[in-house]
Amino acid sequence: MSAHNLKAWLMSGRVFDSQSKTVAILPVGSVERHGDHLPLGTDGIEAEAVALLVAERIGAHVFPPIWYGSSLGLKRFSGTIDVEPQAFYSYVKSVIREILRNGYTLVLVVNGHGGNSYILREVAREIAYEYRDKAVLVVDWWRDVAQEIRASLFKSPGHAGEDETSVMMYLTPSNVDMSSAKDHETSIRLGLTVFSSAIDEALYPEAVLGKATAASPEKGKMLLEAVSNEISREVLKVLNLLPPRPSKNESNRFT
Ligand SMILES: [Zn+2]
Repeated sequence: MSAHNLKAWLMSGRVFDSQSKTVAILPVGSVERHGDHLPLGTDGIEAEAVALLVAERIGAHVFPPIWYGSSLGLKRFSGTIDVEPQAFYSYVKSVIREILRNGYTLVLVVNGHGGNSYILREVAREIAYEYRDKAVLVVDWWRDVAQEIRASLFKSPGHAGEDETSVMMYLTPSNVDMSSAKDHETSIRLGLTVFSSAIDEALYPEAVLGKATAASPEKGKMLLEAVSNEISREVLKVLNLLPPRPSKNESNRFT
């Protein structure tokens, strides 16, 4: 299946009606400073790419990405557009609810930004329990899956760091400016979830964490492949645990 056929926003109504609807994927990003070398929309670009790779593997439909997210931690940098958590929560909830109303059994949210994580999980949890026979999944693609490969590929990952820069060099090299890449490596390792402006400032003095200059497109490609393979396997596993789906006509029913 070509990437074109996977994007719900490129389908005509007639084509959309003719499709069987099982898995929908919603990429969610942020508009946020990523050092001086990566685009502000990095998180959305990556989330969409992961979503399309998964969709190719399992035959899902990708819905239009939500580009804006909750970016309290890097709000002090220009280029960051932070959406209030409550507004983000309500907007994403409406979008997922509407995707399910169009007949899908499972919605996979591919999240590209750490500040969205806990909000997306809360949204997913609430919506999922409105139904008995559907599921909503959330994956933080850069940390929930393919951990071994990630650890073997990258010595110094992080926000706009070695891993994220590698993925962007692979996906869209013309939008990466390695001559402006700066590294910020730190020995600070936090074992708990910490919310603190002062600690964000210490960890991200220039909106970079990790060694961006060690990045390469080859490493980015390997990470994306491992990530999308593992996410695909997990989605299919969940799908098999759900009650059997109705026939194609019924699953197309608009409720
Ligand atoms: Zn990012």
